[in-house]
Amino acid sequence: MARFPTRLKKIRQQIRGAKSDALLVTNFVNVTYLTGFTGDDSYLLVTLDEATLISDPRYTTQLEEECPDLHVVSRNPGTKMLPVVAEVVQDAAVESLAIESGSMTVALHSNLVKALPQVRLIAADRLVEKLRTIKDKSEIEATRLACYQASRAFMAARSQITPETTERQIEAELEYQARRFGAKGLSFAPIVGVGPRSALPHGTTTDRRVGESDFTLIDWGANSGLYLSDLTRMVVTGKLSQKFRKIYEIVLEAQLAAIDAIRPGANCEFVDGVARKIITKANYGKQFGHGLGHGTGLEIHESPRLGKGQNKVQLEPGMIVTVEPGIYLPGWGGIRIEDDILVTKTGHEVLTDVPKQLDDCCLA
Ligand code: ZN
Ligand code: ZN
Repeated sequence: MARFPTRLKKIRQQIRGAKSDALLVTNFVNVTYLTGFTGDDSYLLVTLDEATLISDPRYTTQLEEECPDLHVVSRNPGTKMLPVVAEVVQDAAVESLAIESGSMTVALHSNLVKALPQVRLIAADRLVEKLRTIKDKSEIEATRLACYQASRAFMAARSQITPETTERQIEAELEYQARRFGAKGLSFAPIVGVGPRSALPHGTTTDRRVGESDFTLIDWGANSGLYLSDLTRMVVTGKLSQKFRKIYEIVLEAQLAAIDAIRPGANCEFVDGVARKIITKANYGKQFGHGLGHGTGLEIHESPRLGKGQNKVQLEPGMIVTVEPGIYLPGWGGIRIEDDILVTKTGHEVLTDVPKQLDDCCLA
């Protein structure tokens, strides 16, 4: 459990850097990251020598299990959160308090201002998120497990597909299989798009049947407990057309080249550009309308982003990013291939291992 003291030590450096003497963590995901506590409705005050969780009695047992060493102030049922937070902040003699301005509501901010008139509030966005971009050993292992569970779930669900199967049934089968392989569930509502519906990069599932078209796009992931995976594969259920073959090979070439470019020091716009150049050269640049990838972790979309405007962000060992180029032709369909990549000291490691050669897409 040494990881939580290590994370607190790192966040204290950030607090000093923000010229504050404490940080009030109000984003529950960040509270989980810093303490291991997975409940919600709880805030964490991190000062330079103490960390106090402000929670309530519903979580007493869970807190003992998940973070027995953490200092907890449990507010009484019926007592509002804010007065207790104010008390804890005052007891710690905090003068300037960093707050998570990017995720805090306007209402909470104005209530904090009122409750803490003598305390200077310092907008310090994304301090914890910045730490979260570099995964430690336990996070890498949890992600590796989420990738494994997603892969196994997909292969099992795929083997059940017939022309009669609907998008919704594939979604249900993925969820069931992910749980069978030990996952807590899927990491997000999957995208299952038959034929033309695959051209919607973020479409929701319907009752359309696989047999209504020649191919289906499936974008899914597993949640191994706290950490998430995110993959996309194409399944050819009908005739393998020349058009599909051609576009698939372009997307695959772009994806493999971008993965190959992943190493410490590579900038995030550059890696996006590697895939984009290949797709643009094949005259589909305009049909690749999103960034190449994103970080994953406790949330499905984290920093860093692989895309335009990210040339100041460099990849570092311990980052985990998706690489997911796509070509979308409205009315015909879309082809995307997505894998999860760990940046290592010397290059990268592909964490997902669902086969993706053209032949592997065909449901034999
Ligand atoms: Zn995805
Ligand atoms: Zn993704």
